[in-house]
Amino acid sequence: MKIDVLSIFPEMFSGVLHSSILKKAAEKNAVSYHVTNFRDFADNKHHTVDDYPYGGGAGMVLKPQPIFDAVDALTSQAGKKPRVVLLCPQGERYTQTKAEELAKEEHLILVCGHYEGYDERIREHLVTDEISIGDYVLTGGELGAMVIIDSVVRLLPGVLGNEDSPVKDSYSSGLLEHPHYTRPADFRGMIVPETLTSGNHKKIEEWRLKESLRRTYNRRPDLLESYPLNDSERKLLKEIQGEDE
Ligand code: SAM
Repeated sequence: MKIDVLSIFPEMFSGVLHSSILKKAAEKNAVSYHVTNFRDFADNKHHTVDDYPYGGGAGMVLKPQPIFDAVDALTSQAGKKPRVVLLCPQGERYTQTKAEELAKEEHLILVCGHYEGYDERIREHLVTDEISIGDYVLTGGELGAMVIIDSVVRLLPGVLGNEDSPVKDSYSSGLLEHPHYTRPADFRGMIVPETLTSGNHKKIEEWRLKESLRRTYNRRPDLLESYPLNDSERKLLKEIQGEDE
């Protein structure tokens, strides 16, 4: 996968893209990152990327020309049309399902805004997706772009050591993940559930499924509305509802 980012603060990305799994993914050639300062595409003498809003009012608006030209330059180099994602608090709320969808693409272009917002023609005529990372307002789209990059890259084949691990993560399976414990089995009198130290793998799997259902039921019951429970899961959920009442 190729990921292009358009930002007027490219330096914000260096720590994140050069650390941990994101760095290793690039070293394994699973992904390449390119951060472009779209100020370099501004066709005016002072490389200005923003201007006053028509109709007046507070704040500056990102001009269409530098962003359209930067996307054109990146697109003409690629064969297949890229997904062009606008980071925007008014966009579709980002989810694991969306991360899985984006992870199937060959080329992503992430456009980071700043100031009051974008000229509407960018939204209407340039981008394929508008994504919000949550119902709050950030100063710029850079942190949102990093959230998308991290969540997408860890799903690419071969990036995580164990191919199974993203599949069992919270949200990927449709449920929240079960609790985890590590050594020691007794820490200050707090004991690890006996099943987990029993060595009985069938019982451990059953325990994990039940605790995953319990956690989802207690913390995010809304997820269960769209989760297709099978017969044994339905039975476990009934047991949990009885136990937790
Ligand atoms: N005036 C805009 C509004 O009310 O919708 C907010 C602009 S915000 C200060 C500047 C930029 O930060 C946005 O253009 C966007 O790129 C980014 N941004 C802010 N909040 C975001 C969020 N929740 N998700 C994704 N991007 C966000």
